[in-house]
Amino acid sequence: MILIYLFRGYISLLREKYSPGGELFDQLCPLWADLEDLMIVCTSTIRYFGPDRLDITVKSGVKSFAPTWDMVMKHKRGEISDTQYTDRYLRMMRTSYLDNKNGDWSAILNRRRVVLCCYCAPGNFCHRHLLKDILRDLCRVKNIEFVDGGEI
Ligand SMILES: [Zn+2]
Repeated sequence: MILIYLFRGYISLLREKYSPGGELFDQLCPLWADLEDLMIVCTSTIRYFGPDRLDITVKSGVKSFAPTWDMVMKHKRGEISDTQYTDRYLRMMRTSYLDNKNGDWSAILNRRRVVLCCYCAPGNFCHRHLLKDILRDLCRVKNIEFVDGGEI
């Protein structure tokens, strides 16, 4: 019992030492995930083809987490602001959650690690960051430890 406790402490220490997004962080993530009820959420572009990739684009992704074409095009043309896009997306996701609580949402929350992927360039406004925030909130409610894996 003490050994497990010490080992968990050691793992937490490692987690702090190796910052999210680092290669070693990625390698150690599955190890941490097996030890605790936690969820590691990373973000990346659509060009990421590594483990735990989840396409959340309207073009080819999981529809429960995707925006609409209308929002995407209007945002691209500057017809709706980041704030308006965010409001719409959050509203959509609330409905999506109620509709697919036992489907896509349950599936994503049961994953130990997920990499949310979209076409937007790193550092730009993108719904992958909004979805990460939603998952952070859901983890809090469901007593799952949330780890922000950062942009990879
Ligand atoms: Zn995007």
